[in-house]
Amino acid sequence: MQLLLGFLFAIIIAYLAYRAHSLNKSGAIAAIVTGTIIFGVGGLDWAILLLTFFITSSALSRAFKKRKQSLDEKFSKGHERDAGQVFGNGGIATAFAALHFFFPNELWPWLGFAAALAAVNADTWGTELGVLNPNSPLMITNLRKVVEKGTSGGISLIGTIASLAGSALIGILAAFLNPTVDSVSTGIIVTLAGLAGALFDSFLGATVQAMYFCPTDNKETEKHPLHTCGVQTVHIRGWKWLNNDWVNFSCGAFGVVAALIAMLYL
Ligand SMILES: [Zn+2]
Repeated sequence: MQLLLGFLFAIIIAYLAYRAHSLNKSGAIAAIVTGTIIFGVGGLDWAILLLTFFITSSALSRAFKKRKQSLDEKFSKGHERDAGQVFGNGGIATAFAALHFFFPNELWPWLGFAAALAAVNADTWGTELGVLNPNSPLMITNLRKVVEKGTSGGISLIGTIASLAGSALIGILAAFLNPTVDSVSTGIIVTLAGLAGALFDSFLGATVQAMYFCPTDNKETEKHPLHTCGVQTVHIRGWKWLNNDWVNFSCGAFGVVAALIAMLYL
């Protein structure tokens, strides 16, 4: 019964997001799959956490449009999320919701779910609000190297504070929604694990993420095979398979591992 309700709720949310151009067709279908599992198996608390990520990140990607216009092409995709982005951001959280079905009385599926969402939320908030930093960002692997805004691997003070805030929002909700356990440590673990995931995302962006070059615009870009201008981009560095979706997936995975290790030792 709850699974059926979850399915209906997921269809409504996916349809609204599709109409609002937050998801394209493949993204809406992927959202129905992840939403059905998370709403259907987890229920209301899990739905609140997922929707907090989904709604705040969709809203922030629309905010400050003018400031971002010149940077838009550095990012590989527009505002409409496709299936790759939905699974990249929500795949791990969905897996932990499914694990909750098999371990309904254990805390760790909730902790893993929350940490995965905290990490991708931290990453999104940092990326979207980092553009407000007045100065150019610094490379995470070499904090003395100044890079252009929007460069993968670049971090800034405002971006990092935004990441911490995005992570803390999920951490605080995770603590309050599951009051049967030690709420303070849940909140702290999820918040710090989420921030760690977002920093790991930047680290991958600076090192092994696939990066391309547009010969027409003379610009580095994540876009492949075609740039916004329609010209084919050339691979310049990083592992070809490690595109932005897999980087987001790794961001969530790193947050989960950090949270579960912290749970074992605290
Ligand atoms: Zn171009």
